[in-house]
Amino acid sequence: MTNKYTRNTKKLYIKTWGCQMNVYDSNRMADVLAPLGYENADMPDDADMLILNTCHIREKATDKVFSDLGRLRVHKEAKEAKGEKMLIAVAGCVAQAEGDFILERAPYVDMVFGPQTYHELPEMVVKATGAYGDARIVNTEFPGDNKFDKLPEEQQNAGVSAFLSIQEGCDKFCTFCVVPYTRGSEYSRTAMEIVDEAKRLVDGGALEITLLGQNVNAFHGLGPDGTTWGLADLLHKVAETSGAERLRYTTSHPRDMDDALIAAHGEIEMLQPFLHLPVQSGSDKILEAMNRKHTRDLFFDVIQRLRAARPDITFSSDFIVGFPGETDEDFEQTLDLIRRVKFVSTYSFKFSARPGTPAANMKNLVRDEIASERLARLQALINEQQVEFNKQCAGLTMPVLFDRKGKKAGQLIGRSPYNQSVYAELDNRHMNSLVDVTIEEGFDNSLKGVVTAKN
Ligand code: SAM
Ligand code: SF4
Repeated sequence: MTNKYTRNTKKLYIKTWGCQMNVYDSNRMADVLAPLGYENADMPDDADMLILNTCHIREKATDKVFSDLGRLRVHKEAKEAKGEKMLIAVAGCVAQAEGDFILERAPYVDMVFGPQTYHELPEMVVKATGAYGDARIVNTEFPGDNKFDKLPEEQQNAGVSAFLSIQEGCDKFCTFCVVPYTRGSEYSRTAMEIVDEAKRLVDGGALEITLLGQNVNAFHGLGPDGTTWGLADLLHKVAETSGAERLRYTTSHPRDMDDALIAAHGEIEMLQPFLHLPVQSGSDKILEAMNRKHTRDLFFDVIQRLRAARPDITFSSDFIVGFPGETDEDFEQTLDLIRRVKFVSTYSFKFSARPGTPAANMKNLVRDEIASERLARLQALINEQQVEFNKQCAGLTMPVLFDRKGKKAGQLIGRSPYNQSVYAELDNRHMNSLVDVTIEEGFDNSLKGVVTAKN
């Protein structure tokens, strides 16, 4: 029963695919919907609104959305059988790319909206549930107004390790990638907007902040002094003013690693000694066909300068294997680059032709079994390097940010400065805190530590 002392709340279930920017966006969608009475639910079954926040980067990611929609339809029908309503919405990059087609293929979907429009969610919800009949909504415009200016202050607890979007979109147009089409052109928030949000995240309990962008180091936001700030300026300011203990940023483009940003890795102690720097291929011929705008040598030069600034820094990367025209020799050059840089982890994918991108029309396709075999070899090499690095960590003492329970009772799991997963026997009091841990042993995907002293 609803009386004047209780709020008429509605249940909101958001499922998030893809990159960390989508995780950030999902939290902000929940913020926008909170004033309408929507509260996060853990299960989709009885929700009043389901949002699938989707990823369009590879074909598989897109297919999963449609199979998931089929499953969720059952919940909607069950709710309708009770005379109640459930809104189903598709958000994110699949929504942006597929638009109306989603409504055609899945007639039970009520709303489709792109990543630049979620500040308009209240209006969309009113239209979909409103007095004018239940309109079905497609909102994939790139609106003239800026969504960050319209969003309410964050209300969702972003956790001890929080994401903060500082930049969106991309002007690089790599030939394989949908991001410039789904997220639009590069946009940077103002420095003080970001600095204020970082402080609020720390006030809400964050110890680690990861600054996010599709091309985060292309950041060029308005500074408080009226000049344009780069990522290095912003990192210094957030480090000085936010009160956070750790800073990270992702995802970077090698060509935008400028001198000031490289120097910042030596100057800002709390900037963690781990950088995700996608290279995609080790062959100049393939890098050119990908329109990456950097060479293999430029990449080596950036790595060497980062190591000079911060000698203990480690690297992970993204690779695409089986790009059209990739020969055995090109692939060997990728393996050679991996050995020389000594990456300690990777995200690696077989090329997936995305409609509308230039690479989708390229000839000289690599046969799927060859691409699979190359992917397996690449992953085996990175695993070897990862295990070697993990084993080398034995005996080191390092601060670990514990934020999850382990599989066994009395165990907590956290992240090392190098982004490794570390587990240790530790009681729950230490959850969501930084604790000094001595590493006993390194395994394939994790480290085992013992606690020496509380920070
Ligand atoms: N901005 C980042 C950069 O410059 O590398 C990457 C962003 S993208 C969202 C994440 C990764 O997905 C890419 O680095 C690439 O390895 C992979 N990816 C993107 N398009 C792809 C495609 N068509 N096929 C396979 N992998 C793809
Ligand atoms: Fe996509 Fe990254 Fe290339 Fe931009 S720089 S087009 S986001 S891969």
